[in-house]
Amino acid sequence: LVRAVGVRKSYGHDEVLSGVDLEVAAGQVWCLLGPSGAGKSTFLRCVNHLETIDSGRIWVDGEPVGFAARGGKLHELREREVAKQRRGTGMVFQRFNLFPHRTALENITEGPVQVLRESKSDAVAHARELLEKVGLADRANAYPNQLSGGQQQRVAIARALAMRPKVMLFDEPTSALDPELVGDVLDVMAGLAADGMTMLVVTHEIGFARQVADEVAFLDGGVVVESGPPDQVLENPREPRTRQFLSKVL
Ligand code: ATP
Ligand code: MG
Repeated sequence: LVRAVGVRKSYGHDEVLSGVDLEVAAGQVWCLLGPSGAGKSTFLRCVNHLETIDSGRIWVDGEPVGFAARGGKLHELREREVAKQRRGTGMVFQRFNLFPHRTALENITEGPVQVLRESKSDAVAHARELLEKVGLADRANAYPNQLSGGQQQRVAIARALAMRPKVMLFDEPTSALDPELVGDVLDVMAGLAADGMTMLVVTHEIGFARQVADEVAFLDGGVVVESGPPDQVLENPREPRTRQFLSKVL
């Protein structure tokens, strides 16, 4: 469902991605691990077309990100088309960025009503289902500042799901949370995985990777150093760089 081939990206003279190859099948959960500066966030942002890549290609559900195939050729998408394509990927960041003056429910219905042109009643019904799914059915009318960080992050997840994405991208979704709030968010993510959502998760939560990931990829220096099932990459890493990283975080 998500395929990256030879993805390169530089900022000025700084090459951040130096040829990333990755293939995520529908329904799979991939956890991306790696040291600070490895290019993990940059890669997710490229999948979501928040960044453009310098070379290589990324496909989401068969569509080349940033391009449309017409008459046997690839044409660069216009702004509006980019926005439309971007809806296929739901992104959840470290910081939740909810609208502060809207309730949890309104935060979730905003996109579907304004962008997808869903009827208000359909959007509200779907939002209530999603609030139930993230364990916040009773907090629909709460404002963000009345919710804990973990609850806000779960609203942010519901808000992304409301756009009915094909894949969910998570960039360290729990690293800004107090430790006691992390578990609820990870539980919601594990539930999504069990429902069959395709997910790419940048995380330092090794326990989550071990239990939920189908595949773990270790990124360093802008490349995927190694990838494989969690028990292989986490317990028996082949590459010295992976071993060294794991010895620090485990
Ligand atoms: P972390 O674990 O700290 O979040 P990361 O693996 O997510 O790290 P990235 O955020 O992808 O790393 O950054 C990779 C490199 O790219 C870093 O050296 C960073 O300084 C650089 N970088 C990221 N975004 C930009 C930008 N917009 N302009 C210039 N350099 C950038
Ligand atoms: Mg990052």
